[in-house]
Amino acid sequence: MSNKIAVLPGDGIGQEIVAEAVKVLECLKSDFGLSVEMENGLVGGAGYDASGTPLPEETLKLSREADSVLLGAVGGYQWESLDIAVRPEKGLLGLRAELELFSNLRPAILYPQLADASTLRADVVSGLDLMIVRELTGGIYFGQPRGIRTLDNGERQGYNTLVYAEHEIERIGHSAFKIAMKRDKRVTSVDKANVLECTELWREVMERVAKEYPEVELSHMYVDNAAMQLVRAPKQFDVMVTTNMFGDILSDCAAMLTGSIGMLPSASLDANGKGMYEPIHGSAPDIAGQNIANPLATILSVSMMLRYSLNQVEMADKIDQAVNRVLDNGLRTKDIHSEGMQEVSCSAMGDAVVAALRS
Ligand code: NAD
Repeated sequence: MSNKIAVLPGDGIGQEIVAEAVKVLECLKSDFGLSVEMENGLVGGAGYDASGTPLPEETLKLSREADSVLLGAVGGYQWESLDIAVRPEKGLLGLRAELELFSNLRPAILYPQLADASTLRADVVSGLDLMIVRELTGGIYFGQPRGIRTLDNGERQGYNTLVYAEHEIERIGHSAFKIAMKRDKRVTSVDKANVLECTELWREVMERVAKEYPEVELSHMYVDNAAMQLVRAPKQFDVMVTTNMFGDILSDCAAMLTGSIGMLPSASLDANGKGMYEPIHGSAPDIAGQNIANPLATILSVSMMLRYSLNQVEMADKIDQAVNRVLDNGLRTKDIHSEGMQEVSCSAMGDAVVAALRS
């Protein structure tokens, strides 16, 4: 039975980079027998322009019915003055909430060919392949009560609440352990259990979940140490699982170890492994329409989709190998270009990946 992919290019460079990812999917269909159907939908500013909302009803229906969602990016200058309720970014947040995508996977991969792009020494980061699994729909960003109140003495006080129910920790734990089973079978759970009771429970539940995955080695690390270790010796990690806020901060830090925003894919999964796949970058309005964006993060998002939602690991490997080959051949889009390499356009990079798949 063929899988259905909802294709939502969105705004800005979203249109250009998703077109290249679709080329790759079409090649896998025609040349390697991948059985998928694709259907396009509007989201973000494009959705707003067409129907007055960044998440049109038909896009939501399409995304609900699909096995996976491939998203480009949303946002742009022309929508910045809109009411916050209908801004493009609301389309993305709406999709995450409606599809209950609680598990955010952010790999930080540094291709050896791009080691010079990192601000860290090449020997520290070259070959880095780390997966951060961030809880996405709970924790302090959503906990109640929250707000700013006035105390009896007239001073104002801001407050938020860090809460995690056991089932929320369990499901993100399972997500991380399942991913570790497809990788090097090591999970580091990051918490602040020495100070925060909520993460004391987090640690206890992680221990419990770990019993169901005897092949996977679980270790714990306090978040302050994890931040330090990420910049000291990032290659020590395989899968890192953590709360919404810790993951927000650590995943940006990890992404920057690689120094190339145009290279990093991401996934957000629900309890059944259905996911939305997108590059970690935004719609880059400063370079939109110029055919110079790097499409590799989006192409690698397709690889993640095949690996984590559609169970097509061999097809995912083919994409990863093709991207490696293109980099080996010295092809670079402007954002990752360096001396001696061949600068290519967005569409030429997509064509090169397709050619590498076929070679
Ligand atoms: P951005 O990620 O769009 O761009 C940051 C910088 O990186 C820019 O200089 C851009 O040209 C460059 N860049 C980004 N992706 C690139 C690629 N594939 N190839 C080459 N260069 C690339 O972030 P921003 O400028 O802060 O935000 C622009 C818009 O995107 C805003 O409207 C913002 O709200 C939105 N945004 C959307 C998402 C999303 O859709 N997931 C994420 C972040 C920002």
